[in-house]
Amino acid sequence: MQPIKDLKKEYLEKIKMLVFDVDGILVPRGTKIKQIGNITTLETKLIEKKQIEQIKELNQKGFLMNISSGRGLYMLQEMFREVLPFVSLTYENGSATWYKGEIYQHVNSFKHLKDVFPRLKRVMNNNIKGFEPKEFIITIHCSKRVKEIEEIIRAEKNLYTVWNGEAYDIGIKKDQTKAVGLKSVMKMFGLEKKNVMAIGDNYNDYELLREAGIAITADKSRVKANFYVPLTGAFLPADKLMRRILSFYKP
Ligand SMILES: [Mg+2]
Repeated sequence: MQPIKDLKKEYLEKIKMLVFDVDGILVPRGTKIKQIGNITTLETKLIEKKQIEQIKELNQKGFLMNISSGRGLYMLQEMFREVLPFVSLTYENGSATWYKGEIYQHVNSFKHLKDVFPRLKRVMNNNIKGFEPKEFIITIHCSKRVKEIEEIIRAEKNLYTVWNGEAYDIGIKKDQTKAVGLKSVMKMFGLEKKNVMAIGDNYNDYELLREAGIAITADKSRVKANFYVPLTGAFLPADKLMRRILSFYKP
């Protein structure tokens, strides 16, 4: 793996789309959620003005901009309100994509998750903070790992569970990953692998980064890639990458 400063302009010759994970990349890691009975409190993190300008600028340079997140669409729309005309939003780990007001559904998880959902809801454990509102996957925030949740999912042969240190994402194995979302988005725009650059930091980015022509990781301990940027420091990983790319256009 090479540091981002080794990324050169000529490597980008074939790149037409930039794919960004959200948490840890465009906003700091960590989701604040609280659930008491039927009341869910969920914090919306906003994208900084500087990143909004970078996204707009890269789009003006001709790059398609895709956001690929485990989060729900309602939340991504709120976070990216100012750049909605310039981006496509692939949400819930590749389940669907929003683009200019149209929704393209890539995965139908209903019959796979409908029976397991109420069983997960019944798990009583003080470490469970809440179920994040989602349409196609199940996301359970916990202060630490919860054995009962892992046991329920382990018995479901076609489901995966990914623990990312703050939550479990639960979905259909192989069919409900960011890679499936990316491949669908590539089809929408007529792109091939060599046309795509992607950046991510977590276990749910593994498949995504493998499908990209150029992959960038912000957490070498969790996902491998061609290039890496530090997760911590004064600038967000997306900032470092976008600044690097934009520097190629400066005289
Ligand atoms: Mg992330």
